[in-house]
Amino acid sequence: MFARPPRLPVRVRSSLQALAVLLTLLAGPVVAAAPAGSGPEALSRTAAAAPAGPGPGARSGTAAAAPDSAAATPDSAGATPDSAAARADSTRAATPPPPPDYVAMVRANFTPESRAYATTLAALGFIEPVYGILVGLFLLFSGLSARFRDIAHAMGHRIYVRVLVYLVLYLAAGFVLTFPLAFYQGFAIEHRYGLSDQGFSPWLAEQLKQVLVGIAFFGIVPLVRLAYAPIARFPRRWWLVLAAGTLPVMVAGTLLQPVVIDPLFNRFTPLQDPRLSGEIVGLAERAGIPGRRVFQVGRSAQTRKINAYVSGFGVSQRIVLWDTTLRDMREDEILFVMGHEMGHYRLHHIWLGIAGVSLLSAVLFWLCAAIMRRAVRRWAGRWGFVHLHDIASLPLFVATLTLLSLLAQPGVNWFSRHVEREADAFGLELTHANDAAARAFIKLAAQNRLNPDPPQWLKVSEYDHPALVERIRFAESYRPWAAGKPGRYFRAGR
Ligand SMILES: [Zn+2]
Repeated sequence: MFARPPRLPVRVRSSLQALAVLLTLLAGPVVAAAPAGSGPEALSRTAAAAPAGPGPGARSGTAAAAPDSAAATPDSAGATPDSAAARADSTRAATPPPPPDYVAMVRANFTPESRAYATTLAALGFIEPVYGILVGLFLLFSGLSARFRDIAHAMGHRIYVRVLVYLVLYLAAGFVLTFPLAFYQGFAIEHRYGLSDQGFSPWLAEQLKQVLVGIAFFGIVPLVRLAYAPIARFPRRWWLVLAAGTLPVMVAGTLLQPVVIDPLFNRFTPLQDPRLSGEIVGLAERAGIPGRRVFQVGRSAQTRKINAYVSGFGVSQRIVLWDTTLRDMREDEILFVMGHEMGHYRLHHIWLGIAGVSLLSAVLFWLCAAIMRRAVRRWAGRWGFVHLHDIASLPLFVATLTLLSLLAQPGVNWFSRHVEREADAFGLELTHANDAAARAFIKLAAQNRLNPDPPQWLKVSEYDHPALVERIRFAESYRPWAAGKPGRYFRAGR
């Protein structure tokens, strides 16, 4: 991902999808699987099962977002919607004037309004998982979860049916209980800060669609039924079985995401602008990536933010540019963004993410088993079930995974920032577009209202991309080719 997409909506986390979230959310920073909404800063968090997020965002960049970027970017013309013409002359522009102080620019662009937005999102980054855990505890201690199980048992004898019915009730309850926070995070603040003007009805429709996707993947497919089978059969070693199952589930999820899930939420097409398309295909071919793997996605109805990402696996792997990026960035900036994404593609970051999550899942499931065993022993009476393999334990499972994922986040972020740096370096080695890269970061910060220079503790806990000030400094200074050295990540003809 070029920038951090939205965190998953709380509903997704606190609901059953947290299982998949664990899988992909952890991979998310690296993989940027979903064109998920456009949430907080610039990290990327996605899940095979977390569909194109409740993209907060909304429409064509103008009103609120434009002033920032126009004010600060050296080439404000490029930032306006009619970029085609602006792009064309920008690329032909003669020798640039003495290098501007891009770091000062990105800082100056961080208006009080953007700071308020960024701070709110940072706070939500902590509030949201905690809220999800509280929702899980509420379902347990109120006896609702046990009641859902009783209803499910009354509906049929087959375990498949029982789990499916339980899931529908559980996801519906999760939707209702987390709605206030999901609405605030995904809709209200995006509108307040001029980052979206999507209507309430289409936004709500997306949210409901996500619930249906959750039911389809976890109930109908049926991943939850499959996950609970080893819990019943191997009371002490089930975590090992689930950890082993993570790899194939993640591979399948990542493979299917761009072809099955993402199109349910957004429209994907080949690049529309034939000239730009030619440039990008040429760049992709130089990077050793088939040009047909590049798509654009219509996000402008949902958000004004800009982004791009790599998703899929094997035959479905692709690079996707948000149409907002195409509209608001100059051609040379877009080419650098593509170079960054091509870095993810060529450096096998998706694979790395899947492998990393699979390993991590073994640790998390092991801890999860230990915590849940103790919790059930202590509160089984109050919760209305005595065995962990009782489907009524699902809120406990999800809440525990959410807690552990939260604790693991600094490590996952550290890894993600590392691969993002590699992708930036690859993009520069491929394009040699240092100036365009710095401008792209400035535009990204202004348009998405990102804090370019967050405090260290916040970087550690929430940032899965390096801070933009660091990325700009790197873009300005990284030129191994000027000293005649080969690239570290990209070598022509390889
Ligand atoms: Zn990236």
